[in-house]
Amino acid sequence: MRSLLVHQLPGSGYVFKARLFGVDVLFHWTFPLVGVLSGLIVRNLVSRPGDGLALDVFLACALSSFTLVALHEFGHAAVHKLVGSEVHGIIFSGKGGWCVGAAPSSRRALAFVLAGGWIGQLVAFLVAVVLVQYRGMPVSSCGKGVFVIFTGFNAFMFLMSAFPHGTSDGAQLAALWSLNFRYGHGPTATFTILPTAADKAD
Ligand SMILES: [Zn+2]
Repeated sequence: MRSLLVHQLPGSGYVFKARLFGVDVLFHWTFPLVGVLSGLIVRNLVSRPGDGLALDVFLACALSSFTLVALHEFGHAAVHKLVGSEVHGIIFSGKGGWCVGAAPSSRRALAFVLAGGWIGQLVAFLVAVVLVQYRGMPVSSCGKGVFVIFTGFNAFMFLMSAFPHGTSDGAQLAALWSLNFRYGHGPTATFTILPTAADKAD
């Protein structure tokens, strides 16, 4: 029997625990890698010769990437709560994020939960586009970097998590349609939801 609902979560290496919006959140020591990598790449894309080291641009991009990954995971968590299944917690690591929760009561609810990460990303994308529509393209390198993260990097993250590989959101949605999938059976009452596309960052 295929069991795509069990993921390999990092067993140790957590450095920080917090409670955000009523959800326990664990940070793995590799977590900053997501922001560092995307921050460096986008800073190099948008900074101008006069920007020097452009540390501010780097930080703006890194923080925006963290925010985007968080929006994806909290999107899963929000839909979990909407369909009435418990959220056990959210994990952030250099491989991206996991939202761990109890199995929803129906396949339709599970599909909705799996798509929840993309809803969070879509909200960020629309806010960025609407802001630019009303206020024009940002002129500062920081503003440009933030815009690139919430649109371009956002689209990249979406493609990576939609592509059915490993235990990605796309793979789990595909499994939901497959005949072999026996949802709700077996010893695992909980499952985890992968990933953010940032899991391709390493
Ligand atoms: Zn996801």
